[in-house]
Amino acid sequence: MAYKITLIPGDGIGPEVADATVRVLEATGVAIDWEKVELSASIIEKSGTSLPPHVLESIERTGIALKGPVTTPIAGGFKSVNVAIRKQLDLFANVRPVFTLPGLKTRFQDVNIDMVIFRENTEDLYSGLEHEVVKDVVESLKIITRYASIRIARYAFEYSRKNGRRKITAVHKANIMKLSDGLFIRCCREIATEYPEIAYNELIVDNASMQLVMRPETFDVLLLPNLYGDIVSDLAAGLVGGLGVVPGANMGENHAVFEAVHGSAPDIAGHGVANPTALMSSSILMLRHLGEGAAADRLQKSLAKTFREGSHLTRDLGGSCGTNEFTDAVIHNLA
Ligand code: NAD
Repeated sequence: MAYKITLIPGDGIGPEVADATVRVLEATGVAIDWEKVELSASIIEKSGTSLPPHVLESIERTGIALKGPVTTPIAGGFKSVNVAIRKQLDLFANVRPVFTLPGLKTRFQDVNIDMVIFRENTEDLYSGLEHEVVKDVVESLKIITRYASIRIARYAFEYSRKNGRRKITAVHKANIMKLSDGLFIRCCREIATEYPEIAYNELIVDNASMQLVMRPETFDVLLLPNLYGDIVSDLAAGLVGGLGVVPGANMGENHAVFEAVHGSAPDIAGHGVANPTALMSSSILMLRHLGEGAAADRLQKSLAKTFREGSHLTRDLGGSCGTNEFTDAVIHNLA
């Protein structure tokens, strides 16, 4: 039986990296019946809502989506479709594994980085509650609840227990935001007591950022509220080669959306040079979610081999190949 999965190629380079990812998934032999859903900035503008109903209906039906980037206007225009999907489907956990890719030249290439970042995905300053109090004075509301903090903490600890992770670092700014971040950190401590086999510590977000750059190899699992999670997870991506290579998953109780975290890259869209690694890596998380661990391992090894060989990399990684040549190499390396 084929898995029914929603495919949202998105816009910009989205369709290019989505096609490449569909090709490598086909090559793994895992049968997937894609329900392709078009979503782009112009479709959103026409529909008048950042999450057109046909997109939501498809993910609600299939329970799983693989998603490319969608262009979002900055400082005005429609709201982020990504935030809308996360909210509508209650995808409360954003999961980003960050690890060294063999052979990939980065500033930290000699350091063995292997961490997983858990970011609360539904509240904090992303609640979208902003208003102008009086002219030229704007207020944004930072919402932190016990419900959401406990839920993300438990998710991170459960993941760590199942996957043999040994240490969780909760990141906060509770020295300043004593109430909101204070609540978050109290919830993390409470859940930590239920997992005595996992070491637990806390770092203030500014210190955590410095430590991540100075000693990235010492981090195992990071647990953060939404805004710090957003920033720190991109910082971490930068340690291992940038947004073009790290995967992302948005997980809820009943739905999961696997997505590349980079944007629609309008500067290179349509040129056939986009690097599909991030979406391919996200599809590896999707395969694991489906219970297709063997196919996930094969694809992971094939990507690693392609990076080690280094002869078919895309331009953003210092290579000279296009999306198709890179994809052909990954398929060729599938054992
Ligand atoms: P971006 O990630 O699109 O691009 C930043 C730089 O990285 C560009 O130079 C681009 O060419 C390069 N780049 C990104 N992905 C690449 C890839 N796979 N291969 C090779 N090079 C790659 O970020 P941006 O320019 O800030 O945003 C562009 C648009 O994307 C904006 O409208 C933004 O809102 C949107 N966006 C969408 C998502 C999403 O849908 N998940 C995420 C971030 C940004």
